[in-house]
Amino acid sequence: MNPTVTITKRGEDRILRGHPWVYRSDIAAVTDAGAGEIVRVVSGGGGRHRHLGSAMYSDRSEIAIRMLTRSDEPINDGFWRGRLEQAISYRSAIQIESTETTAYRLVHGEGDLLPSLIVDRYGEYLVLQALSQATDRLQPVFVRHLIELTQPTGVLARNDPRVRLLEGLEQEVTLLSGEVPDRVAVREGGIEYEIDVWRGQKTGLFLDQRENRLAARSWARGRLLDCFSYHGGFALALASSCESVLALDISEEAVASIRANAARNRIANLDVRTANVFDELRELDRAGERFDTIVLDPPAFAKNKAAVTKAASGYKEINLRAMKLLAPGGVLVTCSCSYNVDEELFGAIIQQAAADAPADMVLVEKRMQGRDHPVLVGVPETHYLKCFILRKLR
Ligand code: SAH
Repeated sequence: MNPTVTITKRGEDRILRGHPWVYRSDIAAVTDAGAGEIVRVVSGGGGRHRHLGSAMYSDRSEIAIRMLTRSDEPINDGFWRGRLEQAISYRSAIQIESTETTAYRLVHGEGDLLPSLIVDRYGEYLVLQALSQATDRLQPVFVRHLIELTQPTGVLARNDPRVRLLEGLEQEVTLLSGEVPDRVAVREGGIEYEIDVWRGQKTGLFLDQRENRLAARSWARGRLLDCFSYHGGFALALASSCESVLALDISEEAVASIRANAARNRIANLDVRTANVFDELRELDRAGERFDTIVLDPPAFAKNKAAVTKAASGYKEINLRAMKLLAPGGVLVTCSCSYNVDEELFGAIIQQAAADAPADMVLVEKRMQGRDHPVLVGVPETHYLKCFILRKLR
């Protein structure tokens, strides 16, 4: 048997442009290929057959094909080992651990040429996500190599994201090897966090903001307002540069965790409130409060294309309010992790917010997700996090 998927001319053009995904609508024929199998990809346009490489196949998702290689190298145990080694040695090369950090992303899916596989390191533990039929099937292979390459104390599968449903896979959290405790202590930029890798958001922490927290720290001063604080990522990282910190989150659990993390790091200038940021920003403005540094790091407001208009008005609202609350000379660190709101649109939203505030804002840094979350050129979906740093002139 030689599992093969034949794709249309449009699918072929996409691959030749460097995008690894081919949608179901561009599949012309499937021969002997089962769910999650590795297949040969050929183009069938105009009666000619051209070998395009090897890919992961899904018989359920709209993303039917995820390319692995355009060459004819065999996809065997050594292939997976090589890709994992490449991802791991890149993380050593960028010396994340030299920033007093023990939590970071080891494998970032497409950005590491391992489509739909996520592996995060939390100290001595690994947390993995297999987000397609193929990575789910290959999970034992990845785990065996990861254990050999990194000797973790435990490996947990956080296979609970909703995208697994699109692949016809269960949402489940499973211990794959060793042991993983309920609470894991990790460090980031010298701050210690206690996190719950079994139940926390994403795989436990928002690792993609690490470098933005460090960058924001160099701008932070005076009175800080950290909105959508979760574990207090920005609040805790910036506290030592600021006179006082107010962190806001709508979740009681998050607020308890910020308090616990502040105590753990002996941070005494931090106040936390359980609040809806949309309401609280208005309240603070009404009360005449002013801040020197404001961080906005909301959840993805636009989870799909249809939600973009509503999301844009949400982003504009919080940015406008924050600009009003900033004292002249103050700094705004504003983020969007919605892939559907791209950098250009986000820039336009910020511009509208500044015009309506009104505030004279200058852009001083345009940032993205950390280097352990690399963006594959030609695959806009892999660039999802935007982080702009602005100063208010007046
Ligand atoms: N800034 C964090 C990550 C933020 S995740 C970090 O650096 O780690 C988004 C957070 O926003 C979640 O904790 C969620 O509880 C909170 N949230 C979502 N909607 C909210 C709202 N309307 N008001 C306040 N917090 C909200």
